[in-house]
Amino acid sequence: MRWKDTVDFEPLHPVMIFATLRIEEILREMNVVCWITSGADGKHMKGSLHYEGRALDYRTRDIPPNLLPDFVDEVKTALGPKFDVILEPDHLHVEWEGGRT
Ligand SMILES: [Zn+2]
Repeated sequence: MRWKDTVDFEPLHPVMIFATLRIEEILREMNVVCWITSGADGKHMKGSLHYEGRALDYRTRDIPPNLLPDFVDEVKTALGPKFDVILEPDHLHVEWEGGRT
């Protein structure tokens, strides 16, 4: 697992570590290194869960395009319904909504 120097990990909800471990497992089977590209840093929508440490972005450019749909499905299945998994043009956005009711 790697991350860009610009990634801000504070705050970070601990469950995002579990999510990252699962995502890394899936990527390792594809021989792709798991890169975190954004945490609480960067520009996100106002009110984004990034700023609460409940969302991380993962680089997708190293994943062969034909494997991308399967990768997204696998992540969704692995993390379960309390996570939102959204494929953006250059990254996979994963956020934890489970603690919010
Ligand atoms: Zn994001």
